[in-house]
Amino acid sequence: MAKRALITGVGGQDGAYLARLLLEKGYQVFGACRRSASGSLWRLRELGIEDAVETVDMDLLEFSNVLSVVKQVQPDEVYNLAAQSFVGSSFQQPLFTGDVDALGVTRVLESIRTACPAARFYQASTSEMFGKVRETPQTESTPFHPRSPYAVAKLYGHWITTNYREAHGMYTASGILFNHESPLRGAEFVTRKITMGLSRAVRDKSFVVNLGNLEAERDWGFAGDYVDGMWRMLQQDVPGDYVLGTGIKTSVRRFVSLAAAAAGFDVQWRGEAEGTEGFDNRTGRVVVRVDPAFYRPAEVDLLLADSTKARTTLGWEPKVMLPELVELMMKADMDRQHH
Ligand code: NDP
Ligand code: GDP
Repeated sequence: MAKRALITGVGGQDGAYLARLLLEKGYQVFGACRRSASGSLWRLRELGIEDAVETVDMDLLEFSNVLSVVKQVQPDEVYNLAAQSFVGSSFQQPLFTGDVDALGVTRVLESIRTACPAARFYQASTSEMFGKVRETPQTESTPFHPRSPYAVAKLYGHWITTNYREAHGMYTASGILFNHESPLRGAEFVTRKITMGLSRAVRDKSFVVNLGNLEAERDWGFAGDYVDGMWRMLQQDVPGDYVLGTGIKTSVRRFVSLAAAAAGFDVQWRGEAEGTEGFDNRTGRVVVRVDPAFYRPAEVDLLLADSTKARTTLGWEPKVMLPELVELMMKADMDRQHH
């Protein structure tokens, strides 16, 4: 019989790629989302799998709802990807973020413990938990220092996942994933904001992309590679936690330059701090500007993964590296803008 997987947050970037991967592997895929009729499943449509996923309505805030879905689906594997996933909003919505990203995890775990304790559980942990990093690169044993309500909530989710493993003997695993992007990335995240903004700037000659801190460095990979790592984590004899990342860091500023080149701009920089502008060297036109409104109350300056454990234990490795990723995202947004 086909294995049954339940994915929370199936309408999100990772949910869509993971659903496609599990369908390819012959799973019966149940995709949970808050309201399936709200138009939030466009990513599944883009991947051509909307009809293949069995959608179920489930809000992580509603315990009885979570419990009855888990009871009804009787999954072999649960991937908890649902979250308020944007660091920026978490400063304005710290309580909501905590309810979904921290307590929401317990609602899912408690439902599994009650209704199907043999199910394997994956928690979407994050490199943001390293925050004000204690060492570089970061591994599974690097101490945490979260810097946003999002990261604090995710740290609770991380530890409660460990606790259900240790206290109840359940098969639970956390993937500490570094930033991963794709043409399906949410529009508020910096990579997609840049590729969408620059593709618009190609057509709209007065459009300027406003950004915050250009000096932040991230270890950016491709979402399609990372969902494969999630699946591998649940196929091990013994459950554990794994860091997934490329091991290469790039600044936001450099990401802009790469994306701009792919859009046909030759970006040069002038000014400093809040006065920084990126202009097209051929026309003199400003295409990127710094707007302090996008600065964060507490910033994560640098994230860089050491995924040795995942590479050696899971046989996982990222295939799409940043230059290719930028091309992929830029092309998708140019096509969307110009059709
Ligand atoms: P997305 O924001 O694209 O997807 C998250 C999904 O969760 C959305 O579909 C959203 O639904 C859903 N959701 C939000 N609140 C609730 C709720 N109360 N009940 C049910 N569903 C809810 O995130 P990604 O796909 O990029 O990320 C997947 C997971 O991995 C997240 O938990 C994220 O925090 C984590 N993560 C992501 C990283 C990345 O770089 N992408 C890095 C490390 C961790 P709706 O459409 O209705 O808002
Ligand atoms: P995060 O690592 O989960 O916070 O992913 P984001 O894509 O939201 O942000 C990555 C980095 O880009 C952070 O250090 C942000 O401060 C920085 N950044 C700079 N300008 C912007 C912007 O306009 N939007 C976002 N989202 N991030 C920005």
